[in-house]
Formats: sequence, C-alpha cells, structure tokens
Amino acid sequence: MCGIVGYTGFRDAYDVVINGLRRLEYRGYDSAGVILEKADGEFEIKKTKGKVDNLVAISKELHNTSRLGMGHTRWATHGVPSDNNSHPHVSNNGKIAIVHNGIIENYDTIKTMLINKDYSFKSETDTEVLVNLIQYFMDKEPSLTFADAVRFALNEVYGAYAVSVLHEDFPGQIIVARLGSPLAIGIGDNEYFVASDASPFVEFTKEAVYLEEGHMATISLTDGIDIRTIKENTRIEPVVQELRFNLEQIEKGGFEHFMLKEIFEQPKSILDTMRGRLLVDEGIIKMAGIWDHLERLTNAERIIIIACGTSWHAGLIGEYLIEEFARIPVEVEYASEFRYRNPIVSSKDIVIAISQSGETADTMAAIKLAKEKGAFVYGICNVVDSSIARFTDAGSYTHAGPEIGVASTKAFTAQLTILSLIAIKIGHHNGNLGKAEFMRLITELDAIPKKVEEVLNSVDKTVKEIAAKFVDANNFLYLGRGYNFPAALEGALKLKEISYIHAEGYPAAEMKHGPIALIDENMPIVIIAPKIGHYDKIVSNVQEIKARKGKVIAIVNKGDTQVAAMADYIIEIPETAECFSPILASIPLQLLAYYIAVDRGANVDQPRNLAKSVTVE
Ligand code: GLU
Repeated sequence: MCGIVGYTGFRDAYDVVINGLRRLEYRGYDSAGVILEKADGEFEIKKTKGKVDNLVAISKELHNTSRLGMGHTRWATHGVPSDNNSHPHVSNNGKIAIVHNGIIENYDTIKTMLINKDYSFKSETDTEVLVNLIQYFMDKEPSLTFADAVRFALNEVYGAYAVSVLHEDFPGQIIVARLGSPLAIGIGDNEYFVASDASPFVEFTKEAVYLEEGHMATISLTDGIDIRTIKENTRIEPVVQELRFNLEQIEKGGFEHFMLKEIFEQPKSILDTMRGRLLVDEGIIKMAGIWDHLERLTNAERIIIIACGTSWHAGLIGEYLIEEFARIPVEVEYASEFRYRNPIVSSKDIVIAISQSGETADTMAAIKLAKEKGAFVYGICNVVDSSIARFTDAGSYTHAGPEIGVASTKAFTAQLTILSLIAIKIGHHNGNLGKAEFMRLITELDAIPKKVEEVLNSVDKTVKEIAAKFVDANNFLYLGRGYNFPAALEGALKLKEISYIHAEGYPAAEMKHGPIALIDENMPIVIIAPKIGHYDKIVSNVQEIKARKGKVIAIVNKGDTQVAAMADYIIEIPETAECFSPILASIPLQLLAYYIAVDRGANVDQPRNLAKSVTVE
C-alpha cells in the first residue's frame, strides 16, 4: 500500500525517485506523483491518477533537472483516485509540499478550523489539511523554523502517517516523520534517501536508519540527519543499521510469501478497518456508508448477502451476527446461484454484496439483478473505487490494504470486522442491543487487533510443527459450531486453495450424518473448540472422533483442559465474545494451510488455476 521516496545528493533526483517508486509498486496504489526542487529553489510537480508509467509519460522532461526530490504512490483513503487528489499536496502559499502515507483521523476538525481562517482546499484528501496546518503555524509565527512548524502541526493531528515535507524557503531540507507507517532513511556517501522501505535505495547504500514511532528527522547534505521526538523535541542519536537482504525479500517485507506477510498484517488491517469507525470512548460506531441509510437498513424486512468464495464465508458469519444483534432475517447466497435462479427480491430487501477485489463478475451480475428488482444494495469491498464499490447504492471499504496473495486472509478478517460493526450498529439503533451489551461488544471488538497479535506471536511455531506432521495427508475435515462453522468452511477452503489437499468443512453436529464414515486413524480433523456456545457438545464430538481413532487438531482457549486432554494437537487462542471468535480462530487456520502448502512445495502466492480478482463469470 502506498509508497514514499525522497532523495538529496549528487544523482539525478528524478531517476532515483521514479525508479524508487517502481520498487514500491508491489504495495499497490492508484496514483503517483513527483516533486523536484530546482536550482532556484522552486518546485516542479507532476502527478497523475494511474501507474508510475503514466507519471513518466507526463514528466519525462524533468530528467536530470534536479538533485533533490520526492515521489509518492497513493492508495486512496480520503477522496477518489484522481489527478487532483494525488500527492504531493502543496500549501496555500505554494511554498510547502508534502507526501503522506496513512490517514489523518481528525482532518475534518482541522479543515474546518483552517477554512474559518480563510485557507482553501483543492483536493478531498486529509493530507492537504496537514500541509496547510504547517503553513498556518508558520503564518502565525513567522520566526518559526520549518522543522518546528512541522512538529507543531504533527502534534495537533492523530491517526497514522509517514510524511516527507519540503519548503521552498528552506532549500536542501527534507523533513520526514512517522507514526504508524514505516519510513527508512538511506545514508550514502554525500547523499540521503528516504523511503517507505529500503527497496528504493538498497542498490545505492547498505546503511539505513529506520525512523522510530513518534520520531521526525530533518535531513540535509550540509547538516546531516537531525532526529527528534515529535512530542518533546528531544534529540535522538541515529542508529545506523546494515541492510542484510536482497530486493525480493524486501518487496515481501521480509516474509517468504505475500500470504504470510498478509497473515501477519492482520492486527493492523483489522485496526485500519475499524479506524475512525469504532469510537469506544465515545460509545459510538460511526460509519459514513450506513449513516445515511440507517433507517432503510434498520427497517429492512430481510437482508440478502451475496458473495463468492471466502467472501461468502464472511457472509455466513454476517448472517449469524445480523440475526443475533439486529434481529433482521438474513439469507446468504452464492452470487452465481442467486443470479440464475430468478430469486424473489423486492424493494423492501437490502442486499449486501461482499467482494475483496470489487470486480467479482458473478457478484457484479447479482447486484445488477437485485437492483433491477428494486433492492437497495450495500457493498463491502477492499479495493477502493472498484466496479462494485462504484455500482452499489452505498457501502463500506475494508481498509485491509492491497491483498496480493491469491488466497484471501486479511481481507476475510477485515470483512468480519465490517460485518460486526454493521450488525452491532443496526442492533443498537433498532433497540435490540441495550447500551450495556453494546458497550461490552464494542469494547471486545476494540481488543481484537491486540488479541490477533497475541495469537500470531504465540501459535506460529506450534502450527508450523503440526503442519509438518500432515504434509502427506490426502484429506482433512474441519468442524465447528455456531459462529465457527463458517470459520471451519473457510479453514478447509484455505487448505484446498494452496496445498491442493482435499478438505471439507462441516458443522460439528453434522459429522454423525455422514462425514463420520470417513474417520479412521489417517484422517486429520481440525476442530474449532473455544469455550463458548455449545462447548459441551463439541467435547462430545471430539470424543466421537477419538473413539474412531481420528487425529484431532483442536483450536481451544488458553488453559482448556477437557478438549486438550483428548486432542492429539492443540492450538491455543485467547478468549473473546463468541461472535468474534471466528476472527481469532481464522489465524491458526490460515497458518496451518500456509505451512502445509509450503512443506509440499506449492506456489503459495499464486496457486494453480486461481486468480486474485475473478472477473469471469
Ligand atoms: N490519506 C491519504 C490520501 O487519501 C494518503 C493515502 C496513502 O496512504 O496513500 O490521499
């Protein structure tokens, strides 16, 4: 997702920046821009919606005109991808330029304050607010240094950012800062590089300073690097690190595969999806997408969720959530079935369409059909400005960031996060969820990113060891009850997709109606058994499996003794509310599929026959 590059030194800044942006392309983006500081100190800016190639097409003449510059690839969060919304953004007086990764959460309040003081805005971005806030401090206090003004402004904003800023009156200086988004400074011989990760400069230098959370740095050829804490302005000695990796590794953020990287990104992707929406301290869920249509959603006679693949599994969990908390009847359909069976849909129905890519052809066709029949369609997509996002009546983005691994991981848990927010929001609004229960749920949801992190840290090694024992398995069964039945389906799908082992998911109670016939000493059975809901029933199911010598891999709560005593292998996850337990249970299921597939030598990121964005019907 989105990238920053900066350079000051003796090389052609344009080339360094453009090549650097290309190295960051894997992160996914929708627009690109470049800014150069010319010899007379003035800025030259080119920016465009689209790819770095589009940027090059409109900026080639800048080749060899400057020794200092910055570039940006934008992954839109505030405002559609457009030339205007692309970075860099420039302050009202034209002197300060910024590139930014992340989100300024309180941009709205600051924007209003600045508009009241006659500042104007050309873009819809949160970023343009920040650059004008820097100008505001300099206008107010003309003796302020550039670095102080940046620091003052950063102390006023909250959210997540990595920024790189230039000022025409302070030529030769690049100011960078980070809070939540990464930023590395490359140190060459009489040159400095700035980038979201080291890939743009690893070919020029092996020495880097990774900016720490809450730190900013002023970089210039004359004065070197001056690092300060943003809050207290305390000077920090730079810690120079030796880069020890090759380009390809960096591109995957040091992970062997995109899928593993994406699994490990989930604490952040879930948090990003809740960011600005779940405000626990204020006791509210704020979602622009549903806000305008709350009455319609609340008064729906029925909700139909349409999706394909992993998104369909998220939809099933959505059904449990919405029926439990909002008490509105829900049906979940495969988009491909829905569209061809002449379904009964009316203007009283709400259709929720879920698609990671926002381009899934079957889902798109089903949406068209639902709209023709008069239904109101709400979209849940990960890719901003995608076809489905544009075509639906309203919707919410999962801010999981670009998902490159074909087998969906972080997009799934982000979808569960959005569906949880929607169900709880509607339930609270229509009076089915009292204040106390509402608060209990949102407090628990707020704790999920930390718990996901805890799971990742604690189970990775165990799951890897378990995976090694089942490399040669031909079949797998996945069982769960209640909310964890769809989680079992999703676990089985993950294994099928990337390891090519046949796997089936079932509600645990259904086992006795058929699948139990498959159980013998060679059958691995993954059973999701947290101590919630019908735990006693799950205990009995494990007993039934063990009586037939099946190999049980149980996902249990920390400290579980009953299931743990019977299972062959246990994977422990923390306790949470039943409705959020599929998010935690999904983490070891994803890792299990991943490690088995790796051990089998499969191409995890691009499994055979599968595509990331399924645009065929
Ligand atoms: N929030 C900013 C925008 O929408 C930055 C997005 C990014 O990280 O690229 O322009």
